[in-house]
Amino acid sequence: MKNFKDFALDETILSAIADLGYEEPTAIQQQVLPSVLDGKDVIAKSKTGSGKTAAFAIPTIEKIDWAENKPQVLVLLPTRELAVQVKEDFTNIGRYKRIKAVALFGREPIRFQTTALRQKTHVVAGTPGRVMDHIERGTLKLDELKYFVIDEADELLHMGFLDQVEAIIKLLPKKRQTLLFSATYSSEIRKLAERYMNQPIFIEHEDKQMKKSTIEQKLVEVDTAHKYETLKKFTVIENPNSCIVFCNTKDQVDQLCEKLENDGYSVDMLHGGMTQDDRLAVMKDFRRGDFRYLVATDVAARGIDIEDISMVIQYDVPYEKESYVHRIGRTGRAGQRGVAIMLAAKNERRQLNEIEEYIEKTIERVAIPAIDLVEANRQAFETKMQSSPERKVMKSEQLNANIMKIYFNGGKKKKLRAIDFVGTINSIDGIEGKDIGIITIEEACTFVEILNGKGPIVLKAMQNKTVKNKQLKVHIAKK
Ligand code: ADP
Ligand code: MG
Repeated sequence: MKNFKDFALDETILSAIADLGYEEPTAIQQQVLPSVLDGKDVIAKSKTGSGKTAAFAIPTIEKIDWAENKPQVLVLLPTRELAVQVKEDFTNIGRYKRIKAVALFGREPIRFQTTALRQKTHVVAGTPGRVMDHIERGTLKLDELKYFVIDEADELLHMGFLDQVEAIIKLLPKKRQTLLFSATYSSEIRKLAERYMNQPIFIEHEDKQMKKSTIEQKLVEVDTAHKYETLKKFTVIENPNSCIVFCNTKDQVDQLCEKLENDGYSVDMLHGGMTQDDRLAVMKDFRRGDFRYLVATDVAARGIDIEDISMVIQYDVPYEKESYVHRIGRTGRAGQRGVAIMLAAKNERRQLNEIEEYIEKTIERVAIPAIDLVEANRQAFETKMQSSPERKVMKSEQLNANIMKIYFNGGKKKKLRAIDFVGTINSIDGIEGKDIGIITIEEACTFVEILNGKGPIVLKAMQNKTVKNKQLKVHIAKK
C-alpha cells in the first residue's frame, strides 16, 4: 500500500490533496499515477467512483509547466456536467500550484469561453463538439499540449462521438501522452487505443470489494400501472437522506417529478431538455442537499459524483445494459452502504436479461413491501419529509472559505503579468508564495486569490504598494 507521499509529488499538490481529505491513493490511483509520471500512455478500466479523475489530474498537474500560457492538458468528456466537474477537480487539486482550468461545452455563449481561453490556461476539459469548435476558430491552441485524456471513453463512443474524437486526435501534437479512462471496455475502445496510443499500459482494477459490493442490488417485478405506488412504498421503508430516481425518457421524468411533488416529496428533476443553467443549478442544489429526491434521465448517471446518495431507484429498466452499472454506481460511493432498486415490468424482461448477462449475475428479486411494514415505517418517513435535508458543505466551498479574491484595476493593457503580482504580494510581511492562489489577468483588471485566510493582510498592504511601479486600485472582488 502506497501513500501519496511515496510518489514524487510537489508539496503544493500534497497539501491540496490533504485539504480534500484524501488520505491514501485509491487502488486505481496507485497504479495510474506512477505510469503517467513515468511518461507512459495508459488505459485504465475501473468501476465508477474509484477515483479516476484524480488518477489523471494529480500526475498531469505535477507535470504542468506553470509558466506556459497555452493549454497542456486536454480532457474530453461526454457531458457538460462532467466537464464542469473535472474542471473543478483540477482547480481543487491544482489550487496551490495556481492551475487554471477551463470547461468548454455547448449551449453556453462561446464568447465567455473564448475570453477564458485568451488568458493563461493550463487545462481544458470539454465535450468533443465544443472543443472542436474552439480548435477551428483558433481559440484553443494545441501546440503546447502534452496530455490528452479521454474520460468516460465508453460513454463518449456510445453517444456517437467517435468521429469527433478521432478528428480532434488528428490535430494534436504527435509527441504527447494519451490516457484513456473507462468503466467498461469494448472492442471499439481497443481499436481506438491501437490506432492512437503509444504502447499503452493496460491497468484494470478488479476491485475485490466490488464483488461483495457495498451496493445492495434488488429487483421488483411489478406492472407498469403499479410502479408509482411501489416506488413510494420503497421510499417509506428505506427513508433515504437522498435518492436518485432514474427514468428512460424526459417525459417520464417530468411526470414522475410532478406526481412526487404533489405528494409532498422534496424533489427536483434533471434531463437533457433543460437549459444548461438549469441543469447546473439543479446539480448544485442536489449536491448541497437542498432537496432529497432527484428524478433524472441518464444524463445524471454518468460520472457525476455526489456524496451520500443512499438509494437509487430505476423506475424503468434502462435500454442500454451499461447504463445499469452507471446508475447503480451513483450510490454506495466511497464504500458507504447503498441500495439500488429496479422496478421491472413484464415487457422489460428482454432488457433485463441483457443486463443480467452483462453483469454476470442474477439480481436479487424482492417482493413489493407489505402494507404493515410500510405503515410501521410511516412515522419516521413523515418526520424526515417534514424536516429539511441537512445542508452539505461542498468540498470546494470548504476550500473557498479561506480564500479571498482581490481585484486590481490593471491588467494586460498595462502590461502586467502574473509574475508581477506574485512578486509584489510575496514581498508583503507574513505572505509566502503558497498563500497566493489563482491569478486571472484580464484586459483592464486582474483577480488574485489569496489563500489561508491572509486576504485582509494583502488587502491592507496593497493600499500603499505598487505593482511594477504602478499604483493600482485594490478591493475585494464582487464575486
Ligand atoms: P470515477 O471517475 O472513477 O467514477 P471520481 O474521480 O469521480 O471517480 O471519484 C469519486 C470520488 O472519490 C470523488 O468524490 C473524489 O473526490 C473521491 N476521491 C478520489 N480519490 C480519492 C482518494 N484518494 N481518497 C478519498 N477520496 C477520493
Ligand atoms: Mg470519472
